Amino acid sequence: MQWLGRSESDNVDDRRGVSGGGIAAGGGVLGVIFLLAKFFLGGGNVSDLQQIMPQGQQQEMSAEDKKADDDRAHFVRVVLKDTEDVWDKIFGDMGKQYPKPTLVLFRGGTQSGCGGASSQTGPFYCPQDQKVYIDLSFADELKNRFGASGDFAMAYVVAHEVGHHIQYLFGVSDKMAHLQQSLSESQYNKYSVKLELQADFYAGVWAHYDQQMKNVIDKKDIDEALNAANAIGDDRLQQETQGRVTPDAFTHGTSAQRMYWFKKGYDSGDIKQGDTFSGEL
Ligand SMILES: [Zn+2]
Repeated sequence: MQWLGRSESDNVDDRRGVSGGGIAAGGGVLGVIFLLAKFFLGGGNVSDLQQIMPQGQQQEMSAEDKKADDDRAHFVRVVLKDTEDVWDKIFGDMGKQYPKPTLVLFRGGTQSGCGGASSQTGPFYCPQDQKVYIDLSFADELKNRFGASGDFAMAYVVAHEVGHHIQYLFGVSDKMAHLQQSLSESQYNKYSVKLELQADFYAGVWAHYDQQMKNVIDKKDIDEALNAANAIGDDRLQQETQGRVTPDAFTHGTSAQRMYWFKKGYDSGDIKQGDTFSGEL
């Protein structure tokens, strides 16, 4: 993706260096097991990747790491600006205003309207305060742990979280909150998968328009996004962490489903085709 020197979003609350001052790095098997246990024994699923993120360890950053972290912050700001321009246009075409979300960059841990966030929470969107929370060390996780390399893998993550903001604006998040109160966990998980797949679809729609409006994306970028979607599908994560697949515990969708919906959004660029709920919601 062409991003160097391009305009950046101002809607960023940069809290890096505010709390803790270190960066989460490394992690161990124990941390993963702890989080898995927490997740499968009925922990919340605010986060998109909570179940597989390792426990962070605080370390001082080297000058080199700091430079890489700052580059990522600029990249994420450019991507956020692109999402603002695209959703501004789509909402404008519907005769509406697009209320922009705030992106919070943090390192180690921070507070959100949905409770405490830490680097092992993974990137997430909080409907209560309409903010996207990202610890940039997640880019390392994507590359080293999931094999999802390339800058566009991270662009897909940002666009997916913004997709949750779009769902909030369309009233989908509210309907989901009501469902959560009335359904069993495995019943609710089925809806959670649909919610996540729709966020993937919106990420694809964004990529469609970003390319059309700015011509900054190439074929390799789309492959990077699909590769990331493939790498973080629930079936694949479960296979890797548990050695087996438990469909009832799926909350995000399989690799194939995630790739399918991102691609559908990218190919069509039509938000009307994103009913992953098949009219059930
Ligand atoms: Zn999500």
